[in-house]
Amino acid sequence: MASAHSPRSQQTLSRCVRVAGVGYWSGQPVTLECRPAPAETGVVFVRTDRRPHVRLPLSVSRRVDAAARTNLAVGGAGVEMVEHVASALAGLGIDCCEIHVDAGELPGLDGSAMPYVEAFDAGGIEGLGAPLRPIVVRKTVRVEEGDAWIEASPPTHDGLTVDYTLEHQHPAIGTQRVVVDVSPQSFREQLAAARTFVTTEEAEQLNAAGLGRHVTRAELLVFGDAGLEENTLRWADECARHKALDLVGDLFLAGKPVRAVVRACRSGHRLNARLVRNLLAIG
Ligand SMILES: [Zn+2]
Repeated sequence: MASAHSPRSQQTLSRCVRVAGVGYWSGQPVTLECRPAPAETGVVFVRTDRRPHVRLPLSVSRRVDAAARTNLAVGGAGVEMVEHVASALAGLGIDCCEIHVDAGELPGLDGSAMPYVEAFDAGGIEGLGAPLRPIVVRKTVRVEEGDAWIEASPPTHDGLTVDYTLEHQHPAIGTQRVVVDVSPQSFREQLAAARTFVTTEEAEQLNAAGLGRHVTRAELLVFGDAGLEENTLRWADECARHKALDLVGDLFLAGKPVRAVVRACRSGHRLNARLVRNLLAIG
């Protein structure tokens, strides 16, 4: 195990692992085959249902705007909802991985990143011997949009700290704050199992647009007038934890680990990606 004083090398999976499920929005079955990859590969999705195969690097330069998720596209081919697998990879410190997918949308699973974490832990993680070159934030960088903001400041330990404040208009969600020094252990214990959430109103809008019609209340948290519908929270502040999970995944759009304290309030995927662009521009 690398200590704070001996930075770890780039890491990958020890062996291939599979995760299968159904895309939240499309309802299409999809299988991910996550393969070990050599140093400097980063994370690359490969659409194996396309001829020739299309390779899509996990990179903010490939990000396309979409409501409530993070999508990548190269030419006419895309891969949708990458943030939860990206979060699991970043959380566990898997820098290099080739993810073969046979459809365009990653599975919703239980709405969290835990199924990915379990698969990666079962596969094992190993060092590649090549030095890791994280982005170390030296000076505070802040981006805002309306009443949402996010800022990255110099790290207080050799890693990433996320400090997320959710201010939600739904009374059953309200204001929640979560602060986590991200390590593989804290990621597994405090963030990975936090699930996606929507309000009944949002769920109805999505359904009206033909999206997510097959999704049940066991696969994500739905908040209605009377509170959480047909489900039980894993933590009282599960929603803020999920936003922190999403943030960890979105920060990995930098293509390498980010060493910083990242504070955010009401920030979502688009603003998170703007922060990443600014961090990369500064270098
Ligand atoms: Zn999410």
